[in-house]
Amino acid sequence: MLAVRNVGMRYAGEVDALRGVSLDIAKGELLAIVGPSGSGKSTLLNIMGTLDRPTSGTVLISGQDIASLSDWQLSALRGRWLGFVFQQFHLTDGLTAAENVATGLLYAGVPRKQRRPLALEALDRVGLAHRVGHRPAQLSGGERQRVAIARALVNGPALVLADEPTGALDTGNGQAVLELLRRLNKEGTTIAIITHDNEIAAGLPRRVEIRDGRLVRDTAATR
Ligand code: ADP
Repeated sequence: MLAVRNVGMRYAGEVDALRGVSLDIAKGELLAIVGPSGSGKSTLLNIMGTLDRPTSGTVLISGQDIASLSDWQLSALRGRWLGFVFQQFHLTDGLTAAENVATGLLYAGVPRKQRRPLALEALDRVGLAHRVGHRPAQLSGGERQRVAIARALVNGPALVLADEPTGALDTGNGQAVLELLRRLNKEGTTIAIITHDNEIAAGLPRRVEIRDGRLVRDTAATR
């Protein structure tokens, strides 16, 4: 579904954030990409999410080389194939939960009329059917992250990329969000969770470890 082949990323200032990273993600997987701060996790996430292009190597999404696509084609691909969850939720303050979730359909080519019912359905899946009219300020941190997860799911993405999704939450809410991601995976969603937390990573079926821009361990490779 997603293939990263020998990818390198060199930032201006000659920082090699990634060196020769290769990784395959198959449909239905739930994996952790784990490593200490500064190891290159966010850089890898941005490349897997087609938000950045690598300086060397290849990224294939459903067999398509993203280097062959224009920026416009890439954003269309993102809108249809990918869902993003961030540590700080990135919800819009002035919008209700349902409206925030519906923004996940803006670039997926879904007609306006269908957006709200799909948003309500996604909120129901994350257990927030009773909060659809609430604005972010009226929700707890855990609820905000569930709204963000509903937004990531609403376009039926092939892959959800979650960057430290529990990083801004207390232990209880963090565990609830992880449980939710686990359930969504059981229901069929492919999910990659980026984390610096070994404990979180240890609880997931596959762990990919990255250090100094190199992939140092992939439990899938030893299956
Ligand atoms: P992590 O997400 O694991 O904390 P990052 O991918 O953010 O790691 O960073 C990996 C390395 O790349 C670090 O040395 C960081 O300072 C550097 N880096 C990240 N983004 C940029 C950038 N936009 N420009 C220059 N260097 C960067």
